[in-house]
Amino acid sequence: TAEIISGTEIAKQTRARLAEEVKELKEKGVHPGLVIILVGDSPASLSYIKGKQKASEEIGVHFKLERFPESMTEEELLKVIGSYNENPVFHGILVQLPLPAQISETAVIEKISPEKDVDGFHPVNLGRMLTGQKAFLSCTPAGILEMLRIKGIDPSGKHAVVVGRSNIVGKPAGQLLLRENATVTYCHSKTGNLSEITKQADILIAAAGKENLITGKDIKPGAVVIDVGMNRNSQGKLCGDVAFDEAMEVASFLTPVPGGVGPMTITMLAQNTVEAARNTLLETGSQS
Ligand code: NAD
Repeated sequence: TAEIISGTEIAKQTRARLAEEVKELKEKGVHPGLVIILVGDSPASLSYIKGKQKASEEIGVHFKLERFPESMTEEELLKVIGSYNENPVFHGILVQLPLPAQISETAVIEKISPEKDVDGFHPVNLGRMLTGQKAFLSCTPAGILEMLRIKGIDPSGKHAVVVGRSNIVGKPAGQLLLRENATVTYCHSKTGNLSEITKQADILIAAAGKENLITGKDIKPGAVVIDVGMNRNSQGKLCGDVAFDEAMEVASFLTPVPGGVGPMTITMLAQNTVEAARNTLLETGSQS
């Protein structure tokens, strides 16, 4: 049977460390702040935000939720972001996605100052990550890499297969694994022979958002399986992309849903916010 990687447990340890870092920053006169902007009142968005607020407050980050009606225009939202870009109280700005149809996600993401883009979605941060520079990393991929690191799983020389190629999960996850010297294969909705490829993975990242997409026979014995998916099954229960019980019999390590990637994602957002705050200290330090 596989060892379960508890994202909940690792997130707890990481948050304890971050709480210490926030304390130190406060002593130096910097109180990390995060603002989340929500347009509309989607219950799913509100529930994600609640988790982000809890993690922020737990480690001592100043948190603010700014809400606007569903009817908000793109121009109005861009103006709000512009003012937060200039506001020194908030080191991190996150606009909760998805946005209503009248607002372009691309325009919104590009408006956020890359120095405050704690979600790591801005093309500047994605480009910096791609070229191996210091960057805010997308939280879900960063959380995956952190779990692997803490478990002592070194991607170097391994075959990593990423199922999913979204800009916020699949693509950056593959790039971070490449940076750690894995040989990376991407699979997506047009991949014809998915099982043949996933069966070759030493590290398998399932990020398609399809319940039971990966079953026991799709996994190489001894593989490390990271389940990113968040789906509702027919009983309304939260489940991943991987058939958990079958995977437990084949894999060497497996992340559960819930309690795996989710808590780590939220913790990496808090970590990015702390880093953004620390960066302002470095800037002022070099000026004096
Ligand atoms: P997305 O819908 O933007 O992308 C899904 C990707 O999966 C696409 O690239 C698509 O090509 C691929 N795909 C779809 N069906 C496939 C199939 N049958 N075979 C192979 N590939 C297929 O989703 P996303 O934003 O990347 O999120 C993926 C999943 O991860 C979702 O379930 C989402 O809820 C979850 N998620 C979890 C967290 C977390 O913190 N735990 C964070 C972000 C996303």
